[in-house]
Amino acid sequence: AGRLNLPVIKVIQELMKAGILASQNERLDFETAAIIAEELGFRATREDVKKEDAIETVQAIDRVHEVMSNEAEEHLSPRPPVVVVMGHVDHGKTRTLDAIRATNVMGGEAGGITQHIGAYQVTIHPKENSSGHVLTFIDTPGHEAFTIMRSRGAKVADIAILIVAVDDGVQPQTKEAINIIQAAKLPFIVALNKMDKPEADPDRVLAQLAESGVTTEAWGGNVPIAKISAKTGQGIDDLLDLVLLVADLHADKIRANPSRHAIGTVIEAHVDKGEGPVGTVLVQSGTLHRNDHLGIAGAAYGRVRSMRDWTGKQMDAAPPGTPVKILGFKVAPAVGDILEIPEDPKSLEVKKVKTAHQVATQFTAMKIAPAEGEETPVKKTLNVILKCDTLGSLEALLGMFEKIRHEDVGVEVIQKGLGNVNEGDVTRAANSPPSVVYAFNVIVTPQVAEIARDTHVEVKECKIIYELCDDVIAKLNVLVPPEVIVTPLGNFHTVAIFRTESGRMVVGGKVTDGKIVSGAKAKVWRRPSTIRQAHSGEQSRTTSSGQEEPLGIGTIDSLQAGKQTVKDVHAGQECGISFKGKAKIQIGDRREVYHEEVKERKIVVPR
Ligand code: GDP
Repeated sequence: AGRLNLPVIKVIQELMKAGILASQNERLDFETAAIIAEELGFRATREDVKKEDAIETVQAIDRVHEVMSNEAEEHLSPRPPVVVVMGHVDHGKTRTLDAIRATNVMGGEAGGITQHIGAYQVTIHPKENSSGHVLTFIDTPGHEAFTIMRSRGAKVADIAILIVAVDDGVQPQTKEAINIIQAAKLPFIVALNKMDKPEADPDRVLAQLAESGVTTEAWGGNVPIAKISAKTGQGIDDLLDLVLLVADLHADKIRANPSRHAIGTVIEAHVDKGEGPVGTVLVQSGTLHRNDHLGIAGAAYGRVRSMRDWTGKQMDAAPPGTPVKILGFKVAPAVGDILEIPEDPKSLEVKKVKTAHQVATQFTAMKIAPAEGEETPVKKTLNVILKCDTLGSLEALLGMFEKIRHEDVGVEVIQKGLGNVNEGDVTRAANSPPSVVYAFNVIVTPQVAEIARDTHVEVKECKIIYELCDDVIAKLNVLVPPEVIVTPLGNFHTVAIFRTESGRMVVGGKVTDGKIVSGAKAKVWRRPSTIRQAHSGEQSRTTSSGQEEPLGIGTIDSLQAGKQTVKDVHAGQECGISFKGKAKIQIGDRREVYHEEVKERKIVVPR
């Protein structure tokens, strides 16, 4: 919007027309942005973004680093070391991680099923020590996440295991890994893998390593070596003992403050067709709690709805060093993103709630007339017209829709069938807003597309079932009315009218109970004796103080006590109020003052 010199709402509206429900803080990919820009009469060209990225990366590193290094000594406690496995392709990284997991996780602990969340934890019990040590392993396929994280500057690991297969020796990716490890000054261990192979030649590999700048203990250096076979499990325990030893040597760095707001790095992220956006975060400092507000680069990303560890167990709190799979992201984060729970969740929330609420109101206003009266929740229905290529896909989609159950919103398939989208489908949709026509693997002819454009009907072409479902959910989420939490503050009795303008009044009076706060909402109530003159025949309402009639709602713009503008006024005190609202206040009216919080809600679809 800034670049196009247009109001944000204009861009949001255009996005909604395209079926994209984005709030003000969300990022769009270039393709989407280009299409939207074009709709608005601009042509978008891609700009070299390296410079911007670089700045962001620096900020990201600085943030984690800043938090870590600013902790007072007395707040720091040991946390599980984070270990990453590196090495050339096919040298046995995956198999080693599997072997570690298999030998160190008791059946009961894993609860039968383990989940792939991008990391796991094992508890090691050294012989001389009865209490176990927990190690966190980053376990991402191809370690793509690690590469991204590195390129974004995030450092998540404390210790690396450099795997070199003894039948193959040092290879290009081995050298690359060595460079990364040395650049990051990461303590590491060399694991000589595939020792079970007859052609194993560990001495040759150690010589190659020395040539590449790694002087192992065997060569008089200080890099420890473990000879292992991920296949037979030989040497795995020794490797883990070495990891503990190295962790012990660097114990002063492997610490964090568990009592602060959590900060961590996203190590895996995807959109699950049942669960929505899912992210695994490695908590690096602080403790992550359920219901925490998820902040990435200052933007609101939702709240922690639920957290699970890698065994699938629900967690209420995740201390430093713990990888957790989080549900509750509004949009999927990106691998390498720094998640930071804000000190003041309110600032983040206000930003988010406002935009989401604005979007919701807008959409409602556009599509359906707002419901009369504030306390009559009407179930809002998205009317769907579904055209598919086969009966199988039609049934599959109908089955998915069945699973969407929510008290406030729902999907109604008002027309369905096989074949291309026709004029009748579009007309039907135009007559039943809010609605959408889905063309699943079928064609929308240019003529039909034109009718749709003229009648403002959205016709969406999809080829993947879950994409279509995601789109339905996104549309329903816009329809879910936000939850409004009302906190009563106090009451004000009007004794004088100072000024009357259109939409605003300045009145004087007394706070009878509680307190009134500048910026709060106020409902004007009038006793029946005075009402009869103003309004007749309207429904009355009974309250503890007798029958009163609500006249309208407004906002307390400012408060004046004596000559001073004040933030709040307490029971028994007199004050002047500048009231913004349509109600024409009279002497004797009561003002009920309350705080209103608007909470965005999202629907959850079970698998
Ligand atoms: P990655 O690409 O580094 O993750 O390597 P993998 O763990 O996928 O292993 C590559 C291949 O080497 C697979 O066929 C493994 O079964 C095999 N492999 C891994 N470790 C060993 C080992 O210790 N001994 C033997 N004989 N084969 C191994």
